[in-house]
Amino acid sequence: MTTVFGKIIKGELQAEKVFENERILAIKDIHPVAPVHILIMPKKEFANLQSVTSEDYPLLSEIFAVAQKLAKEFGIEKGYRLLTNNGSDSGQEVLHLHFHLIGGKRLGHIG
Ligand code: AMP
Repeated sequence: MTTVFGKIIKGELQAEKVFENERILAIKDIHPVAPVHILIMPKKEFANLQSVTSEDYPLLSEIFAVAQKLAKEFGIEKGYRLLTNNGSDSGQEVLHLHFHLIGGKRLGHIG
């Protein structure tokens, strides 16, 4: 299934890219909830985290490494949130695995 992120990855839709390599793309969220709101996603299509199998765990590690790097670059390494919505009960809107990197303001406590 091609999603809006699939189209961005293929270059069919524009986005503000902040990181890209052969496996991963990071873009600015079009509706930011904080001064820094970046979406980090694998180029390979997975509906969400629950669809990832152990074969692709190295990709998840690389996404975490990209999150660390971007947090530093955007000056939020002292406090940020990295989250993924998984499935309809979480409110996931785009069915292409992505992690929200959010920071740059005091974030409300969750959990
Ligand atoms: P989720 O609810 O986790 O699926 O989040 C989807 C996110 O994608 C939302 O925060 C949207 O603001 C964001 N979004 C949707 N379309 C675009 C787009 N074309 N470019 C950048 N971000 C987008």
